[in-house]
Amino acid sequence: MTPPAWDRPRVAVVTGAGSGIGRAVALRLAEEGARVALLDLDGEAAERVAAEIASTGATAVALTVDVTDRAAVDAAVAGVCDRLGPPTILVTSAGLDGFHPFLDITEQQWDRILGVNLTGTFQCCQAVAPHMVEDGWGRIVTISSSSAQTGNPLMTHYSAAKAGVVGFTKALALELGPRGITVNTVPPGFVDTPMLRKTESRGFLGDGIDHHQATTPVRRVGRPEDIAAACAYLVRDEAGYITGQIIGVNGGRTT
Ligand code: NAP
Repeated sequence: MTPPAWDRPRVAVVTGAGSGIGRAVALRLAEEGARVALLDLDGEAAERVAAEIASTGATAVALTVDVTDRAAVDAAVAGVCDRLGPPTILVTSAGLDGFHPFLDITEQQWDRILGVNLTGTFQCCQAVAPHMVEDGWGRIVTISSSSAQTGNPLMTHYSAAKAGVVGFTKALALELGPRGITVNTVPPGFVDTPMLRKTESRGFLGDGIDHHQATTPVRRVGRPEDIAAACAYLVRDEAGYITGQIIGVNGGRTT
């Protein structure tokens, strides 16, 4: 028999929860019994997902937050503590891609991509981790990217940011392990979300999604629920011996 996810009710923070992977993670964690806080730059989208969760009888709150804004992140986490209780699960899915030839990347573009993907991950982890330390238990899953493993043309900034997330995750796992906190990263590859569809429509996906499906070992595009399933496992009590790991969910595109 599958053991319960947690020995007691847990509060989870999911960033980028208004869309794509973050949305699927929030829905899945709510299904598993967590009370979920949905943080997103697009507050209306987060509200819609929170309403979707509430319609199942589970508890969710939505907060409009730019993860690069530390004061806003701290205020959001304080709000989560007031409304749901201290969070001990964090999944950082807020992300921003970009396609620019290396020679043309402006400092502003570089800073924004690094800011959202890497610094935003740092800000959210540092804001939530004290509650995990206090509890003596915590689960962090960062969402990196297969771009960190393979590199991607026109994405030196994004690949660098996501590779930074991988290194950050490994270092944080070593530091927080003795406190009962695990830290892992899921680098998705080729998952059907608004981000991927936008990439295709802008012509940055080569021959398009159909072509990529044909060259993916499992012969399909990833679903947000594939990533959510991996996250849901990593945040369970029983995953306590898994930390500092890169758990690829990419249909075999990167091994
Ligand atoms: P998505 O559908 O675009 O969802 C990302 C969400 O993050 C959006 O709601 C977005 O809001 C929000 N966001 C962006 N910047 C933010 C900020 N500064 N503060 C707070 N929220 C912010 O993309 P996705 O495909 O689900 O991607 C989720 C994560 O997976 C990202 O980190 C992405 O890099 C990573 N990833 C995805 C794939 C893939 O194949 N889909 C592959 C590799 C990695 P707005 O819409 O307002 O910008």
